[in-house]
Amino acid sequence: MNRAYNFCAGPAMLPREVMERAQAEFLCYGSSQASVMELSHRSDTFMGIAQGAEANLRQLLKVPDDYAVLFCHGGGRSQFSAVPLNLAPSVAKAHFVNTGSWSRAAMSEAGKFVSTHQIAELDTRDPSRWAWQFASVEEAPAYLHYCSNETIDGVQLSALPTGMAVSEGCPVVADMSSDILSQPIDWDTHQLVYAGAQKNIGPAGLAIVIVKRDLLGRHGRPIPAIMDYRAMDAQGSMVNTPPTYAWYLAGLVFEWVVCQGGVDEMARRANQRSEYLYQAIDNNDFYYNPVPKPFRSKMNIPFTLAQPSLDAAFLQEAEAQGLMALAGHRSVGGMRASLYNAMPMSGVETLVDFMGEFARRRG
Ligand SMILES: *Cc1c(COP(=O)(O)O)cnc(C)c1O
Repeated sequence: MNRAYNFCAGPAMLPREVMERAQAEFLCYGSSQASVMELSHRSDTFMGIAQGAEANLRQLLKVPDDYAVLFCHGGGRSQFSAVPLNLAPSVAKAHFVNTGSWSRAAMSEAGKFVSTHQIAELDTRDPSRWAWQFASVEEAPAYLHYCSNETIDGVQLSALPTGMAVSEGCPVVADMSSDILSQPIDWDTHQLVYAGAQKNIGPAGLAIVIVKRDLLGRHGRPIPAIMDYRAMDAQGSMVNTPPTYAWYLAGLVFEWVVCQGGVDEMARRANQRSEYLYQAIDNNDFYYNPVPKPFRSKMNIPFTLAQPSLDAAFLQEAEAQGLMALAGHRSVGGMRASLYNAMPMSGVETLVDFMGEFARRRG
């Protein structure tokens, strides 16, 4: 069966080995005589799957023991509301770094539950040199939120902006939906990390939350039980029936990452894939990526054609060659190639060959 190289930003491509394993285990998992989808979440078999997945994730990301690892419902966006509900009383202030569409979406949702304040923003008016604009800060916030990889804009931060004042003891929260497991995480500078699963982890709907336990229970307000990190932690993420099949598939992906050489190897591959594509874009006047080098994402690479009238032909011809889902986000247009962990180098090479050939023929 021919599977395309799938450049979709999410739900995204999963490793072929994972899909084949899931297929082989689909009807009967191990000796259970049933599909994982049909097992009680409290059965020994599923508990084994669940704990194995958590253990591998902890090992891959070197999660400290005083952090809880939660398998939650509701995708990445559920955490836009769960974070303020868990970390802040409603009278508190939360600080936000604005690097693009997802930062703004997170800030807007949090604004329903806490008072939000944008403390840093990327000023993108000068296309050759993007610069940080900082707002003044009067009050210690309940937490600081940023998005490590802007999936739509193709902007990635390797660290919080230098020169930004983070008050002593202020928890730093990161939305890592689209770059988790592509590089190590520094737990000295992150107290809460969350990610929707459908980019680098598994099926949509699942969200992973990794949170320092001593932050929990400070909010002093009612929280829906399935969003309550402390309750979720106390009950092994089984306040209600968890998304069992998604959890199982995430576990297969974690095992795959371990077998491939772990997160350092994922980081090496992400560098290799993205450098190869950026070079092809930069060396050809027919293609353009608007993001200055220090901010370029290794996961999502938007680009435009010199002649936008050729967009439809580009997409159609790419698809005919097995290069799928290269259209940019509907809010920005153009093209976007998402190069998550499951994308093999051969996919990027095929794309770059196609781009060169298309520009020669049509440019
Ligand atoms: C995809 C994405 C989300 C939203 O995920 P959903 O599961 O659709 O809610 C949030 N943040 C970032 C950075 C994303 O890439």
